[in-house]
Amino acid sequence: MFYTSTRDNSVRVTASKAITDGISPDGGLYIPVEIPALSADELKALCDADYKERAKKVLGLYLTDFSKDELDYCVEGAYKEGKFSSEKVAPVVKLHDNVSILELFKGPTCAFKDMALQILPYLLTVSAKKNLKDKEIVILVATSGDTGKAALEGFKDVDGTRILVFYPVDGVSPMQKLQMTTQEGNNVGVCAIKGNFDDAQTGVKSIFTNKEILKRFEENNLVFSSANSINWGRLAPQIVYYISAYCDMVNNGSVKFGEKINIVVPTGNFGNILAAYFAKEMGLPVNKLICASNANRVLTDFIQSGTYNRNRDFYTTVSPSMDILISSNLERLLYILCGRDADVINDWFSQLGDKGVYTVSDDVNAKIKELFVAGCCDDALTKETINETYNDYDYLADTHTAVAINVCNKYIEETGDMTPVVIASTASPFKFSKAVLGAVETDAKDYDDEFSTVAALEELSSLKAPEQLSALKGKEVRFDKVASKEDMAKVVFDMLGI
Ligand SMILES: *Cc1c(COP(=O)(O)O)cnc(C)c1O
Repeated sequence: MFYTSTRDNSVRVTASKAITDGISPDGGLYIPVEIPALSADELKALCDADYKERAKKVLGLYLTDFSKDELDYCVEGAYKEGKFSSEKVAPVVKLHDNVSILELFKGPTCAFKDMALQILPYLLTVSAKKNLKDKEIVILVATSGDTGKAALEGFKDVDGTRILVFYPVDGVSPMQKLQMTTQEGNNVGVCAIKGNFDDAQTGVKSIFTNKEILKRFEENNLVFSSANSINWGRLAPQIVYYISAYCDMVNNGSVKFGEKINIVVPTGNFGNILAAYFAKEMGLPVNKLICASNANRVLTDFIQSGTYNRNRDFYTTVSPSMDILISSNLERLLYILCGRDADVINDWFSQLGDKGVYTVSDDVNAKIKELFVAGCCDDALTKETINETYNDYDYLADTHTAVAINVCNKYIEETGDMTPVVIASTASPFKFSKAVLGAVETDAKDYDDEFSTVAALEELSSLKAPEQLSALKGKEVRFDKVASKEDMAKVVFDMLGI
């Protein structure tokens, strides 16, 4: 299995090279030359397997230059007992009738990013051994809150790596901020940026491709890689849990084997839902992929109209991990749907860069509408949904998951489609305690201190906050630097001492 670039069809690299590089030197994203198939028999066999076995099978189809031993080592290390608070790793729970929830937040940082970022350091260090000679890898991350912490936790004290995370200074929740600023480890750095997530992401991308910076890295025996979902090593592990969820739904009787499901995903950078698309293309019985956005509804408008227009107001919402106007992974979908034509992608994405807008062909738009349904909801509806879901089904959803539940409800109401649904739940409600508490108890007290809010939410819900969040109370803040976006390169040099 080889990988090519969305911006240059002549590229052919191995999986390990794609993971080591993070992004293709032409600025495109790596993508498998073809999508491997998972037969019905193979899927059936996975129904009897545990999460690790499912991961080995699915990843083995994509990471073909990893030996069996290497893959076993990566999967066993990432999902070993004790790392996730559920022995199923990504459990499926029933919300009601035909709607299930796939809980992806049982990892060390309580957000779905752990699913991939626990394994990425293993995949990357194994890949680097094959592709780099004794170079130190520098991971640069732009985060809207959850990726940063999950990447720090995955890479802390991993030999041969350094990691530096940039987050928008006013764009993350208090808990997300505390998780990052108190991060332990001797190879880690964290810096706030005056700007929003897109500024941080654009800044990181431009550092990756700046010739002068790359030269300075070369001289110091350093090399960049990415832990953002532009890295294929982030995407591939996310395919696993959709297949795993299907198996669990077969096992608990929510679907008959072979019957189709709808998948609803709260979406920002389009990584998570793209993984669901790959699962479908591999042969998983999927009917519709439902893309749920918050008030930053650029994807809703795009899927409905075929025009992607980032020239619009940016909203800071209660679901900050989806406050994104440039959804990087859409490029991979469009590359496939336009018939794998890199020229077309170059054209659209240079229009996006120059004017902030492009329109896909009618043919591509029709294919998108065949595969996807899109919907969105604002903060008021998000909170209303948290309230209703709690009162009607005794389920406490976080703000991101609530966006997906809202869009799912509207879809079922409008279409009457009774296909069994699985909704990706992407974070623990305790990561966004203030908004969740305020949603469930409309006259809730406004605490200044995050941990009083957590305690109030615990009391109200009779649930216990995840240990790793409670443990942040009183922890020393190690990183309080705030930089302007123009200074990001300097921050990198300072941290590395070059
Ligand atoms: C990152 C994130 C999302 C968005 O996922 P994408 O892959 O960027 O679309 C949604 N919810 C939470 C909690 C997240 O951390």
